[in-house]
Amino acid sequence: MNTDRIFLSPPHMAPEARDFLVRAYESNWIAPVGPDLSAFENEFADYVGAKHAVAVSSGTAALHLALKLTGVGPGDVVPVSTMTFVAPANAVCYTGAEPLFVDSELTSWNMNPDLLRIALERLRNQGRSPKAIVVVDVFGQCAHYDPIRELCHEFKVTLIEDAAESLGATYRGCNAGTLGDIGCFSFNGNKMMTISSGGMLVTDNPYWAEKARHWATQARDDAPHYEHSEIGFNYRMSNLLAAIGRGQLLSLDARIARRREIYQWYNRRFASAPGIELIPESEEGVSSCWLTCILVDRARLGVSRDEIRIALDAEQIESRPCWKPMHLQPVFAGMEVEGGSVADLIFERGLCLPSGSSLMDSQLERIAGVIERLVVSGTVR
Ligand SMILES: *Cc1c(COP(=O)(O)O)cnc(C)c1O
Repeated sequence: MNTDRIFLSPPHMAPEARDFLVRAYESNWIAPVGPDLSAFENEFADYVGAKHAVAVSSGTAALHLALKLTGVGPGDVVPVSTMTFVAPANAVCYTGAEPLFVDSELTSWNMNPDLLRIALERLRNQGRSPKAIVVVDVFGQCAHYDPIRELCHEFKVTLIEDAAESLGATYRGCNAGTLGDIGCFSFNGNKMMTISSGGMLVTDNPYWAEKARHWATQARDDAPHYEHSEIGFNYRMSNLLAAIGRGQLLSLDARIARRREIYQWYNRRFASAPGIELIPESEEGVSSCWLTCILVDRARLGVSRDEIRIALDAEQIESRPCWKPMHLQPVFAGMEVEGGSVADLIFERGLCLPSGSSLMDSQLERIAGVIERLVVSGTVR
């Protein structure tokens, strides 16, 4: 047995990150305030091309603050992509609002604008116009934002982009995270840029940025004593983590390039395999290729998604079914959903393959070899 386990998307640290961390540590700015925190915000805002960035403790915290900025609260409904990690749906619930899940389109696996229109029209007819929607760029690919933005304009809805997986991606030449009114990023240990934990809220609206920073620091008013006129949160990023983030930014271009190479490697390797289809790359943009996913057609391949997953695991290779759609999650039973069959199919057949930027070609060979051997023996059986 090969004991050198291959993970789906392990942390990948830049050499500079350690130096930045040690310098911050020695400066004794061991707090959710300090010079690295503001420097990281400025450098990150420059990188993605946003006017303002607010560094927070997680991507989930960024989403919660973004929703609060739009005024969402109890009694509101918020359309959210159903094909996603749970964080944006949870953040909607933190505000007291309810999510309405919207299915994906097959071209990008992201929110289908036609279904969004149907949902928005139905809500308008019921007199329940949403204040915000959350669109997730799933597995690193941007959603189809032009029609989505038009809808947001028509229905006067604020667009929150969950770019937790798509840092480095573009849509029609614009960077992920800047495609809506507010963008949210995550730096947890398996994302495009790993800091261990942390998130960023970006926006061009200076009032929103200031408000988010205020809420993230317990809503402390400007006074010599502790004065509070609103409920706040302890959501600010630590200066130490911001220092790591500054170091990580220096290698980010290389990390994105490697994830894209890995996608292309799998694409070439499985191009002729009947019954294995890669997540499509939309013609409207460039994906960050956070995770390369395959759809397994058992009837054509002779082997199921789960047989592949189990065979990989036996060879110390981590893989995972694609996100279970939110409308199928027990915790959201009874919530509204528009469509659902596309997300259901992706969940039923989809498998995320190891895609971390530190993966070596020899490891990719090992992964593809396990799948190919299984397929060969599977057909014989
Ligand atoms: C990872 C992730 C988040 C949340 O990030 P945390 O930093 O772990 O809170 C939010 N949305 C999506 C789509 C994610 O994949």
